[in-house]
Amino acid sequence: MTSIPPPSALRAALDGTATVLTPGADAFEAAHQIRLGGVDAVPVAVVRPTDTTGVARTVRLAAEHGLELAVRSGGHSALGRGRQHGALVLDVRGLDTIRIDRGAGTATAGGGITAGAYTAATAEHGLVTPFGDTGTVGVAGITLGGGVGFLSRRLGMTIDSLRAAQVVTADGKVRLASPDSYPDLFWGIRGGGGNLGVVTELTFDVHELGTVVGGPLILPGTPASVAGAVSLLRAAPRELAAIVMVMVAPPMPFLPAEVHGRLITMVNLCWSGDVDEAEAAVAPLRALGDQEGGVLADLVAPGPYPGLLVGPEGPPLAMRYRSFFADDLDEASAAELLAALESSTATMRAVQLRVLGGAVADVPADATAFVHRDAAITGVVAAAEGTSAAVAEHAGWATALADRLRAGRPGAYVNFVPDGDPALLADAYPGATGRRLAALKGTYDPHNLFRGNLNVEPVQAP
Ligand SMILES: Cc1cc2nc3c(=O)[nH]c(=O)nc-3n(C[C@H](O)[C@H](O)[C@H](O)COP(=O)(O)OP(=O)(O)OC[C@H]3O[C@@H](n4cnc5c(N)ncnc54)[C@H](O)[C@@H]3O)c2cc1C
Repeated sequence: MTSIPPPSALRAALDGTATVLTPGADAFEAAHQIRLGGVDAVPVAVVRPTDTTGVARTVRLAAEHGLELAVRSGGHSALGRGRQHGALVLDVRGLDTIRIDRGAGTATAGGGITAGAYTAATAEHGLVTPFGDTGTVGVAGITLGGGVGFLSRRLGMTIDSLRAAQVVTADGKVRLASPDSYPDLFWGIRGGGGNLGVVTELTFDVHELGTVVGGPLILPGTPASVAGAVSLLRAAPRELAAIVMVMVAPPMPFLPAEVHGRLITMVNLCWSGDVDEAEAAVAPLRALGDQEGGVLADLVAPGPYPGLLVGPEGPPLAMRYRSFFADDLDEASAAELLAALESSTATMRAVQLRVLGGAVADVPADATAFVHRDAAITGVVAAAEGTSAAVAEHAGWATALADRLRAGRPGAYVNFVPDGDPALLADAYPGATGRRLAALKGTYDPHNLFRGNLNVEPVQAP
């Protein structure tokens, strides 16, 4: 049964291991803000632990009172304030330390650090762990879903660099998950989302990385530029990766004014090989512009890798996303994609395409709870508006376009299922993976305390 303890009881139970912010406190409003707009759930309190003990006490407290526990780090999903009013938010952002061990080739970071802070710290040593394209995303959040970014084709997904994680499970126990310690839990946290516990510390491999060549290359949005970029990236060396955004051009200062409001193909690329070889590697992508009437903007330049991890700009928007995986994207599909973007009335609408392959596909599908490694492309169709009511009408559009682009291939990437839509569970965790996760959930979270996510229902062993 749910009971809401008064703030004094919360503070007493946590005994100085966490700050407790409740409605009415000055810092409460700022404390429960997340990166997405249009989410109105108001938590009963935001608890900010300073260490693993504080996390464990918060977990026990939520379990004892039957409260929904919403775990948040970087705040990029819609669930960082809980599914509904009255959740207890466990904000782990205070766990933001990082230790780099050059000898061991690892970095160990707190479960609340952001990808940007981690990457800036390792870059000082010429080292990197592969995350995504956005510095404000939480390291724990992206890792639990898999982690796809500029270095995935060369170094693998984020989970492929994870050596161990400290996890507070629903019973409040602190467990080290690694290949040698709770290996089943270690399998499940690599792709299974936040279903199995609170991650308080993560140890990753770090890899040597010097100057990269990267930035946006902007082409006119045509079927040939979209399909051509995807095709070139699929055939490219592993050191070349890009996040291709097909979108209506916003008024970016580096774009000619006549392009604003027209469809563009923005190839946000990263060459992580020898800088001297970058020109030749990027040339075929630049040449796509020759066929299309010119490259609209070319900001590709050498620089430090952390500079590529930008954060979302502007006020938070309410969004509807739909994730898909695809085996190919030809010109006919690209033409449909562009027509759908043209026809949508959403204030912001875009399709993001990431070419997988390379090191992502080197790992067997059943090695982790992320199983979509053989897909050529992972993508997201997104629409955004100022309010959740306004964006709701675009949900069907996003789903229909994603279904067209997946061309019959099932699948959803849990990191782009921001509102935990249960209809997508079997897409994210098909067949044996879903059954294995449900059994793990039965072991580590039998009462489904961690349900503010793409939720796997616990199944008890017979
Ligand atoms: C602008 C933007 C850019 C993105 N770019 C990429 C990208 O390039 N590549 C990619 O793979 N993904 C990307 N994502 C998706 C992102 O990885 C997921 O949304 C991820 O869950 C965000 O983590 P967070 O910590 O920032 O968010 P939060 O909302 O804080 O956390 C998301 C969920 O993760 C779980 N969680 C977070 N921290 C913990 C913890 N310490 N212990 C247990 N559970 C925890 C919780 O279930 C929580 O609901 C992007 C998302 C956005 C909005």
